[in-house]
Amino acid sequence: MPELPEVEVTRRRIAPLLVGRRVTRLHTSRPSYFFLTPPLLLRRGLEGREVRALTRVGKYLLAEIEGGGRLLLHLGMTGQLFTSGVASVRLLSASRRAALAPEQQARFEPDRHTHLRFRFEDGAPDVLFRDVRKFGKVQLLGPGEPCARIERLGTDALAVAGADLFGATRRRSAAIKTLLLDQAVVAGTGNIYADEALFLAGVRPARPAGRVTRVECERIAEALRRVMLRSIETGGSSISDYVAPDGADGAYQDERRVYARTDEPCHACGRKILRRVLGQRSAHWCPGCQR
Ligand SMILES: [Zn+2]
Repeated sequence: MPELPEVEVTRRRIAPLLVGRRVTRLHTSRPSYFFLTPPLLLRRGLEGREVRALTRVGKYLLAEIEGGGRLLLHLGMTGQLFTSGVASVRLLSASRRAALAPEQQARFEPDRHTHLRFRFEDGAPDVLFRDVRKFGKVQLLGPGEPCARIERLGTDALAVAGADLFGATRRRSAAIKTLLLDQAVVAGTGNIYADEALFLAGVRPARPAGRVTRVECERIAEALRRVMLRSIETGGSSISDYVAPDGADGAYQDERRVYARTDEPCHACGRKILRRVLGQRSAHWCPGCQR
């Protein structure tokens, strides 16, 4: 699932292709739960208008539209936002993927999982939103219209301070890891970076949140920022379906210290990385380095 770094990498790579461009046509798939705004209203609200800015809040992208509207985009579990001409084999069906030689590059053709296709006036590359499982979302907000999904988010993970975290965890018996995944507490954190940040902070994921000290909260906040900034720098993690908008693979997965390294030796102390299910998500940690 794309987390903050993957969404931010997407924002940085897609923004130059969207911002300052006028949408001439918007192609959509048929109405489904992907569309919080019906396709017809999306087309009416976007065609003929220019995109003014593209910002990120937690794991959401918000495009500011000429006239004051905002377009909310969420990648969900398997959403991919990219441009025409992209050449990542992970966008292809299993059968087409199998038929390709490893060095072969393939141009992506819009398919039935392509729910949005923005076309622009100046012949610029199309921008496409593809989502096989349709847990992604798109919503057009009118000028000044509030967005409940954005308003209930906590502080962005890149901006969260130790003091915020300390305040939010007092008297909470839930595991610290579970609280870090709560978007109302820290927006943008997901499974990979929560595990990695807790390793760097030396705190076990299952520790009751209320028993994490002020100093540890500061270390966790600092570690979250550090792992996410580093991931953004390396292009995000290419675990599962995430693919960068230009089809490039991210490289952060090569730097993982604990996430999905069950039974492998800890790089710091050599003990085996452990895994357990916490709040229906798997948590990974080192019994030697984390308390
Ligand atoms: Zn260790």
